[in-house]
Amino acid sequence: MKPLQMVDTKTQYQKIKTEVDAAVIGVLESSMFIGGKVVNDFATDLADYHKSKHCIPCANGTDALQIAMMALGLQPGDEVITPSFTYIATVEVAALLNIKPIFVEVNKQTFCLDPEAIEKAITPKTKAIIPVHLYGHAADMEKIMAIATKHNLFVIEDNAQGIGCTYTFTDGTSKKTGTIGHIGCTSFYPSKNLGAFGDGGAMFTDDDELANKLRMIASHGQSKRYYHDVVGCNSRLDAVQAAVLTIKLRRLDNYILARRKAADFYDAAFANNEKITTPFRAANQQHVFHQYTLQLTNVNRDELSQYLTDNGVPNMIYYPVPAHKQKMFDAFGGSNFNLPITDLLTDCVISLPIHTELDEEQQTFITTKVLEFINK
Ligand SMILES: *Cc1c(COP(=O)(O)O)cnc(C)c1O
Repeated sequence: MKPLQMVDTKTQYQKIKTEVDAAVIGVLESSMFIGGKVVNDFATDLADYHKSKHCIPCANGTDALQIAMMALGLQPGDEVITPSFTYIATVEVAALLNIKPIFVEVNKQTFCLDPEAIEKAITPKTKAIIPVHLYGHAADMEKIMAIATKHNLFVIEDNAQGIGCTYTFTDGTSKKTGTIGHIGCTSFYPSKNLGAFGDGGAMFTDDDELANKLRMIASHGQSKRYYHDVVGCNSRLDAVQAAVLTIKLRRLDNYILARRKAADFYDAAFANNEKITTPFRAANQQHVFHQYTLQLTNVNRDELSQYLTDNGVPNMIYYPVPAHKQKMFDAFGGSNFNLPITDLLTDCVISLPIHTELDEEQQTFITTKVLEFINK
């Protein structure tokens, strides 16, 4: 059996090595390391893939979120509504800008923001909602956009885990996640569904004015060379990453299919086990399975995790401490939030290996070990 890993980016690379190596060497020989044609062409390809008017590459997904908040003009003291059950980057950048994260509850099935909880958390200071398409399943964007319109709020999608997910509205139209809100943000961290060989990120919008602001802020607030109109930062995607990503983007839909197939295998193996809840898949979207995350009932999750580790099955807890309970947010009153579903999920989730290179032999081994512990 091939060795088990949470993500197998090495085998994935081996399959496209000739093409990727040539593209990377092309960048080295051109000496155009920052900006230039390779980066611009990738941004165009990625915008086309998303059917988005603008795609602005940047240095990483965390920067994308920060630049989005800056471009929307969010000010210190403003409030943004976000899940606590997410990766820290979503909320850290709000705090960095002195914007107050208002942590709200997620839906227990989807792991994503609960629209009802959003409405209850809106105050006169609320400026934006930040849904996270956690594990690759989209938040309830139709309801979230309706709430945003009603209350005149911005929506920044954290699509770092959801890239490629297609979301269908009740009127039958479809959009890619990351293009539904005012700004969408994504990450090309190597283990993400579209992973670079280093850091990278991008922002999406259909609004020309916002696109200009995003571009300016990512480039030292510069409107033209050496003319700096607003306070910005330095956040660039480099050409080596863009070259790699261009090649992988052509395969993204196939990569998603491979992940979905692996998820189907797990679903079948765990079906009808009363202690295991497999990931929910809303009928109006294509889950892209950045993670395959189980909810356990009447199982000692940490003992299962240890058992799997002892038996050579990698597994992860995403995330062991919700954002509102991180020390980082003490100053923002994090511990004042009462989020029982978030706390429950934090204690009962476990993620199994999922990536584009899993085979049935590996998955049989993984599911056998999980069930051995669960049914003992
Ligand atoms: C990975 C990730 C980010 C941050 O992306 P980086 O490129 O690592 O900065 C933000 N939000 C979520 C949900 C993520 O998974």
